[in-house]
Order: sequence, then C-alpha cells, then structure tokens
Amino acid sequence: MPNELYTIRRAAVALALGAVLAACGGEKGSSEVGGEGKDLPGDTTGAAPAAEGQPQSAAPAPKGPTGPVANLPPNEMGRIMVLEYHRTGSPETEFVRTLANFRKDLQALYERGYRPVTMRQVLERNIDIPAGTTPVVFTFDDATRGQFYFRPDGSIDPNTMVGSWASFKERNPAWSGGGVWCILPAAAHPSNFFGETPDKATPREQREANIRKKMEWFVANGHEICNHTLFHARLDKAKDNQQAMDWIGIGEDSIKAYLPADYDIVTFALPLGMWPKSKPTAWAGTYRNGKRYENKVVLEVSGGPNVPPWDRRWDPHSVDRFIVAPGALEAQLARWDKDPTNRYISDGDPRTVSYPRSQAANLDRGKLGGLTPRELPDAAPGAAPKS
Ligand SMILES: [Zn+2]
Repeated sequence: MPNELYTIRRAAVALALGAVLAACGGEKGSSEVGGEGKDLPGDTTGAAPAAEGQPQSAAPAPKGPTGPVANLPPNEMGRIMVLEYHRTGSPETEFVRTLANFRKDLQALYERGYRPVTMRQVLERNIDIPAGTTPVVFTFDDATRGQFYFRPDGSIDPNTMVGSWASFKERNPAWSGGGVWCILPAAAHPSNFFGETPDKATPREQREANIRKKMEWFVANGHEICNHTLFHARLDKAKDNQQAMDWIGIGEDSIKAYLPADYDIVTFALPLGMWPKSKPTAWAGTYRNGKRYENKVVLEVSGGPNVPPWDRRWDPHSVDRFIVAPGALEAQLARWDKDPTNRYISDGDPRTVSYPRSQAANLDRGKLGGLTPRELPDAAPGAAPKS
C-alpha cells in the first residue's frame, strides 16, 4: 500500500480511437509554426465559454483524449524534468540509450501521467496539459541518424527515436506534445541533420529536400527546433567573442534555411555544457554584418528537475537537464512515485497556476506572465490519495 501513492485512470477511449486516424508520417499538412497549444480562453473546442465572475475552478473541458493521469492534487510549483538524450545504440552510457529503453521511457512516463511539452511552451507559460498530469521536456542533442531518418520509400524509419515517438503517439493519442531537437547544421556525417549523406554522395538538391522534409515533419507535429552551434564547437575555446557568436549565429542561420520564414528559434543547447568566456554571448549576439540572434532558453548539460517558470529561482538562461543515463530516469520516477511533494501536477487550466500553500514562498508573482495564481490548502499530512 505505501507505494500506491497514486493510481491511474484511463479515459476517453472513444475519443482516442478517433484520433488514431491522424497517422504518423506528417503528410497531413499545415500546422502553423509555434501554433501548438495556442488555444485561447475564448476558444470553444467543446468547452462552454466561461461566464463573467465564474469561479476560477471551472477549468476548460479537455480538448482531446486525456490518457492515464496521476491521482494527485494540483501542484504547479512542482518541478519539471528536462530530459537529455543523445545517440541510440548499445551498450548504454550517459550519452547512449538503446531504442528499446527509449520506448520503455515513453511508456513509463505516459502510464504515470507525464506528458511532453516543448521548452518554448515552458518559456511562454503555455503548459496546456490535462489535470493530474506532469509536463516533461524531451531534448535530443546532436541530430544523429538514429534519431530521425526517412527510408527510400519516404516513410520514417521505425527504428529511430522519431519513428518510435510517432508510433507511440499513434497508439496513444493523449501523448500530444513534442520534443526539442538540438541540431548541428554543419557537423560531419552522421550528425548533419540526422544522418544525411555528405554532399558528394547525394546530389545537393536531394539532400536539401530530405532536410526540409525532416524540418517540416517536426514543425507539423508540434516539435521544437533548437540550435546546438554550427558543428558542436567548444564555445570556451573560441579565440574571441566574435568567433563564439559566429558559431552560434551562423548555426542558427543554417538551420533556419530549412524552416518556415517566420520560425523563431528560442532554445540553444551548450555543446558539452561549456559556456563562452563572455557568458552573455550565449544569450544574444551579432554575426555577419550585424545579424542578431537571441537564445531565450539556454540548456545546460546536466542537473536535476527544474523549477517552473513562475518560481523565483527560474532562470531560462541556465536550464538544467536530466541526463537519461542507465537507470537514472527509472530511479527518478520511483522517487516521485513514493514522494510526489516536488512533482509538478497540472490543474488542467493553462490560465491558472495552482499550488499548495506550503509552496507559496517560491512563487514570484512578477513571473506569472498574466496567469492567475490559485493557492490551495495543503493536503492533510499522511493522507495518501485514494483511487
Ligand atoms: Zn552535443
């Protein structure tokens, strides 16, 4: 019994079946850039419009299948894991995950009520997930072939991380968000846009069409594109500030060449977690005759789960990441199964920030970005939720 601190319920199976029709492959068209989860309070996707003066507890009706949720009270002052993946393969290390374990990670997270959100959504305070679920950010570094590849027939290689993600989502439509893909546009094969062959082996036009198709898939499926410098440069070894800014700025430019014209890259991952000598260079800078880049989110290379964006300690210019090393994620999930005190639990309403009174001291009202705080009484001590 002590380990049964939460239980799972499954919901909206009928809705889920309807959404299965949205198959993987991303050929279904034109989601707009950054449009994920941009529902406004006035949006009426099945929800009755909120009347003036209605209690704030009237959350909008769920927009789609809910999937398994944790039976825990809201705690939007809880922490959010920003997971960090690199290559697929075997044996596992800090930077290698087997595809089988990556698939297990998706399943384990989903069953426990975790849902993917992008870094952009966290930054924009747009964590729009069902009540009782926990946001989790997936980041993928280095753009290797094992992450994403199209087979000669044009379908996604199922033995890649993207292939696994797409088929998981097809089976579990409530797995609704996307991941964050940190790309090295000028790295040597196989880290050049997920294993595209070098220029000499493939006609340039074909290679560029493949890259564009990958970027289109990410954008259409609610994923986020992140810059990881031009070729994984050690920013601490740049000969001067300008060289560091070039590696970042030209990197961003080279990725944007394959993205819709208005796509704004907001997230940057430090190669090997090394900062440039002048730290602010990682946050913003100029390159090539005054062109400008701005990285609103800078990802570190290690750390534990992050505080949410309205916590007084939140610093988007230095976001810790949780390396998915062998056993590490399993251990963290077990810790939160046992004691969910610091686990973020959504109240289901993207317009409000609900938290137990005991966590009020960390709230910075100046960081709410227009959201409404809702302080809740603390759960009675020892009162484990019952199913
Ligand atoms: Zn890297």
